[in-house]
Amino acid sequence: MPTRRTVLSAAAAAAAALAAEGLARGLGGPLAGPLAGALGQPSGGAGGELAVGRSEASASGRPARSAGGGGERLTRARAVADFGGRRPRQWGLRTSGAITSAGPRAVSAGRVVLTFDACGGPAGSGYDAALIGTLRRLRVPATLFLNARWIAANRSQTRELAADPLFKLASHGWRHLPLSVSGRSAYGIRGTGSVAQAYDELTGATPALEAVTGTRVRWFRPGTAYCDEVAAALAHRIGTPVVGFSVNGDAGATFSPAQVASAVGAARPGDIVIAHLNHPAGGTARGYARALPRLLDAGVRFGHLDPRR
Ligand SMILES: [Zn+2]
Repeated sequence: MPTRRTVLSAAAAAAAALAAEGLARGLGGPLAGPLAGALGQPSGGAGGELAVGRSEASASGRPARSAGGGGERLTRARAVADFGGRRPRQWGLRTSGAITSAGPRAVSAGRVVLTFDACGGPAGSGYDAALIGTLRRLRVPATLFLNARWIAANRSQTRELAADPLFKLASHGWRHLPLSVSGRSAYGIRGTGSVAQAYDELTGATPALEAVTGTRVRWFRPGTAYCDEVAAALAHRIGTPVVGFSVNGDAGATFSPAQVASAVGAARPGDIVIAHLNHPAGGTARGYARALPRLLDAGVRFGHLDPRR
């Protein structure tokens, strides 16, 4: 059983693995043509202003709710006007504004938050049905961060996951880039290069997600989980705060089942655990199948992130 410090220090290995994954995918340009249209993705400049998705009223038939402090969605032009002059000073996995703890309510409730990323791209668009099956069998809830490319490659699975109240769907971005306003890189992957590009990364998966869930997207995790604090503040303003992690469950799906079981088994109330649902050949599913029953027997509860934290 690793110490907590050991578990946390695995973050670097995971980020490297995620980065390698990103490089393997060849972080090419945005999806183009009809597919981009179907996903409601940013048009890459041709269309100018991108209103972030539809109103909640049109998406779900319910009255619009406010999110992130206001009912109106932040436009790209407003984002550039409000954040364009700010110079970031931080860069990493734990920058100001990134959520890396489930908060005091979760601690007092004995609750751990499980999160799983689906990164998308040629090397990352698999679906770990065994992992999802384990969560369902044990009635363990989880927040699933889906990338726009993964959604495009897994339409029926996305609908199934959206229809299951056990899961909440959140955004893992559009092109799976580190979230920067100045082109900072993480493990060799160049991040978004401006506020406008960060905005596109933050909002690119939103229409596809909201089309299947009928609810507003609440959370965002960047590709590689790296961000700067200006981009994190932008994410807050958009209404999708950046969610990091405190326990690395599978190191970018590179851990063996035993390593996964050990890392996840060390989770304590208030932790946010990161792992992946897009690598069915990895050790993630078998590791969780070992760790979760033990944690449940020990009295650990699982839940979603609380917006009030
Ligand atoms: Zn990812």
